[in-house]
Amino acid sequence: YLSFFLLAASAVLAYMWRDTFDAESVQGTRVLITGASKGIGEQMAHHYARFGANIVISARGEDGLKKVAQKCVKLGAQKVSYVTGDMSDPADPDRVIRYALDKMGGLDYLVLNHVGNSYVEFWNRDPDHVRTLMQVNFVSYVQMTAAALPVMEKSRGSIIVISSMAGKLASPYVAPYTSTKFAVNGFFNTLQHELAIQKSNVSVTIMILGLIDTETALNKIKGFSSMTAYPAGEAALSIIKAAATRQKEAFYPWFHYFTCLFRDWFPFIKDLMLSDLKKQ
Ligand code: NDP
Repeated sequence: YLSFFLLAASAVLAYMWRDTFDAESVQGTRVLITGASKGIGEQMAHHYARFGANIVISARGEDGLKKVAQKCVKLGAQKVSYVTGDMSDPADPDRVIRYALDKMGGLDYLVLNHVGNSYVEFWNRDPDHVRTLMQVNFVSYVQMTAAALPVMEKSRGSIIVISSMAGKLASPYVAPYTSTKFAVNGFFNTLQHELAIQKSNVSVTIMILGLIDTETALNKIKGFSSMTAYPAGEAALSIIKAAATRQKEAFYPWFHYFTCLFRDWFPFIKDLMLSDLKKQ
């Protein structure tokens, strides 16, 4: 019976997760990627460029954006432009959306990916840091969504929200970051329900990432965790596929789907493991 159950479960999961992505569906689409001057955002820009999309990228630093834009042209992007913006400034999310709409005349994919700097330490009792990080990692995502939704309704667009296992599983040393990702998951999951009730054309994909090998992440966990970090290029491609196939929630690496089940089925084991997680 157990073998039969495992076989049936594997068949169902293989069907659920089969690759139905059609690269041609992305060609010529209008894409705005935030936080695209490095890391996963940069990798997404490269993939969208290879697929022949029309891309606008944003971040604070102009030099990084310029380099990514130049590479995207070489990789085959239909058009590329960039706009600087600091998402800790409440005026900038709207300004970046306006720029993208002006440049591309509409929007098919809005990729909300930028992330503000935070620490990996015991909570330092600084509420101002949490407030600022909330603006960068969460409120600016909401602002950009509010500004883009009416236009994306017309283009049957997709909003992609880059979230984290830290927004699914509370663990020590990352209280401010974790709070922002829980907020992101809660808000955009609610929005998914409301858009469905309103029979909206817009899809929202929440992407749950495990540890990815970007420079920022590897520097932060140094001397702290020996967990395997998965390649940013692969993470970026799985995000693009999940959005193109209008998935509601997707995981990279895939096994974190089971981590979330495990969290709910065996909460005491999870708490035991996390309470023992010490900084080395
Ligand atoms: P990086 O640090 O590599 O890149 C962050 C990007 O955000 C950069 O382009 C940066 O450019 C931009 N940025 C930072 N602060 C601001 C700001 N105030 N306003 C506008 N842009 C800003 O991050 P990752 O690629 O590692 O992470 C990308 C996403 O993936 C994030 O949402 C993160 O939470 C998520 N994630 C990452 C994981 C990982 O292990 N790497 C794990 C789970 C989730 P600039 O400094 O020039 O502004």
